[in-house]
Amino acid sequence: MLKKKITEAFEPLATLFFPPHCAYCKTRLEAGMDFCTDCEALIERIKAPRCESCSQPYDCATGEFTCPNCRGEAFYFECAVAVVRSRSVIRDLIHRIKYGKEIWRLYEAGKLKPDTELTGKIALDTRVADVAAVLEEVNLALKAEAARQLFLAGEAPY
Ligand SMILES: [Zn+2]
Ligand SMILES: [Zn+2]
Repeated sequence: MLKKKITEAFEPLATLFFPPHCAYCKTRLEAGMDFCTDCEALIERIKAPRCESCSQPYDCATGEFTCPNCRGEAFYFECAVAVVRSRSVIRDLIHRIKYGKEIWRLYEAGKLKPDTELTGKIALDTRVADVAAVLEEVNLALKAEAARQLFLAGEAPY
C-alpha cells in the first residue's frame, strides 16, 4: 500500500525524466504500459499446460509427461517459469541486451564486420557515476517544471 502510494506520488516526476516508450519500437506510450499494442500482439505468453521443469508449452503436458526439450538434462533448479516465448519481439530484445553493447564497442573500434562472431561477453564499465551532476540535472528540471506549472496556472511568466 505504502509502496503503491510512493510510486503514484513519484510517477509524474518519473515520466517527466523517463517518458514511457514501447520497450521494443520506442513509440510513446501512456504511463503503466511496457509495449505498444502492435508489439504486444507479437508477444506469445506461455500458459498451461507446459513442462514443469523448463516451461516449454505443450498441449499434451499433463499427467505423466516427458518433455522432449529437457529429457535427459540435469538441471540445478526445480523449475524455470517463463512467461513469454523467446520469439519475435522478445527474442530481439534479448539479443539487444545480450549483444548490443558488444556490437557498439566493436563498431566504435572499427572491428565490426559481417562475419564477426559475437560472444555476448563484454567488460563491465567500472567508472564511477557522477551522481552530483545527475542530481544537478534533476534539480534544474524540477525548477523548470515548477516554472512551467506556474506559467500554466497563469501565476508567472514562463
Ligand atoms: Zn512497440
Ligand atoms: Zn521441459
